[in-house]
Amino acid sequence: MDRRRADRARAFTGGPILTMDPSPACVEVVVVDNGRIAAVGDRALLRAYPDVIIENLAGRTLLPGFIDAHNHLSIAALHPIWADLSREATLDEFKAALLEQASREPDAHWARGANWNEVTTGVLPDRHDLDALGLDRPVIAAHYTLHQCVVSSQGLDELQIGRNTPDPPGGVIARGADGAPSGLLIERAWSAAHAQSMATYRDPERWADLFAARMRQLLRDGITCVHDAACGQTAQAVYRAMHAAGTLPISVLMMPHAEAILMDPPLDGPVSGDGDERLRVGPVKLFADGGIAPAMDVSIAGQRSAFGIEFPGLAESVVRAVERGFRVAVHAIGNVGLRNTLEAFARAARMRPDDDHRFRVEHACLASPAQIGEMAALGAIGVVQPGFLHHIGQSVEAVPWDEEIWLPFGDLARARIPLAGSSDDPCAFHEPLRTSSHGATRRTGSGNILGPEQALAYEEWLRAYTAGAAYAGGQEHERGTLSPGKRADFVVLEGDLDPEHPPRVAQTWVDGTLAYDAQLP
Ligand SMILES: [Zn+2]
Repeated sequence: MDRRRADRARAFTGGPILTMDPSPACVEVVVVDNGRIAAVGDRALLRAYPDVIIENLAGRTLLPGFIDAHNHLSIAALHPIWADLSREATLDEFKAALLEQASREPDAHWARGANWNEVTTGVLPDRHDLDALGLDRPVIAAHYTLHQCVVSSQGLDELQIGRNTPDPPGGVIARGADGAPSGLLIERAWSAAHAQSMATYRDPERWADLFAARMRQLLRDGITCVHDAACGQTAQAVYRAMHAAGTLPISVLMMPHAEAILMDPPLDGPVSGDGDERLRVGPVKLFADGGIAPAMDVSIAGQRSAFGIEFPGLAESVVRAVERGFRVAVHAIGNVGLRNTLEAFARAARMRPDDDHRFRVEHACLASPAQIGEMAALGAIGVVQPGFLHHIGQSVEAVPWDEEIWLPFGDLARARIPLAGSSDDPCAFHEPLRTSSHGATRRTGSGNILGPEQALAYEEWLRAYTAGAAYAGGQEHERGTLSPGKRADFVVLEGDLDPEHPPRVAQTWVDGTLAYDAQLP
């Protein structure tokens, strides 16, 4: 029997089968033919398929393949090229990693490190530290959040940032005591440095190889589709070329960067929904507030304070994107970011009251009960990251806000707001079985429990990673639940759905073909 081919019907049976559909929620048999689900039902169904190959689940659980609804695959895939600064514990090791990267990539115009995290490593470099490397080119150390970086003096020169350069709108050029830029660039100032330092990494074949390698890693974690949550023109071209060549290991929903869509005149091209099951255009990605500096207005014991960075012109951008035929997804971490996002959504909804907008709030990390009510009234979706309990949860567990709630997953669900599960990879770990465990236990990186009333059952997280994420992507007709006609993309789990001892991925199936098996080398 050739297990890697999908040209004969096969029936999965012998273990719990979770359809992620309300009825029936559980079945005994799924029959697959030609890469699609042909039938679901009880064991009697097998009589209608006498020649079917039986796939014995042997007590393991079968469910739809996971959809990571917010994954920066096109940037995470390139990380192996760069110095991994997450592992470097001292400034000397940090510098050694950058030197090693520069020698590995002699033709790159910038030396580049990724995943710098000053909290876990204690390393807080400035431009002088990077200058001391003595390299013949500019140096950038990108933060794990992809919302700030440190660049060398040569890098500042290349970006034409000097003592008198004003902060860009929505960004900060950090300065030392002497008033000169320190090298730390935040939010929109980081975006410019990121774009410039990426300029030499544009070889489509190299990207395609790296994308494919990353996708094969995701298959090991049961992920059969990602929503690439900010997809530049190069990345879109690479995805299209891979799709044309039949070399995309998983499905991708590309969420285009807003810049090209909102240019005047706008870039012509496909809009949300265009494409096919393997590669489709998703909503446009916009930003309401910072990632490292989310915009918040909160009170502690009645004392209000406001801080963070909000980006101007959001409502206009949302309206223009909707006018051009796109759905929209807005990054909103702080409650001020969320307020501006909901105002923008309300405007677009008034403009096009009959559209199925499926507004997406990406992150929704801090919200008041009133805002959650507004989200529900707008029919907005919460594209949430249970894995954020680990690092954001740890950093806020001692902050007693009066009203606003951190990572309010339980309240969102109780307001009947559709939730889509996601990771924000590479800004956080991506494994759905692991992030879901944090979402169910509310355990933070320190081991403490944050807001236990906001917990959702482990199975609810698996639903958010399947049916919920499919709905957020406008893909519910093709994936996310087990019903006839849907894609035969599955994950098979070994072990109980216990958040304290999460199950493991035993197999991943794509198009009815075994794409990963933990027992095979
Ligand atoms: Zn993100």
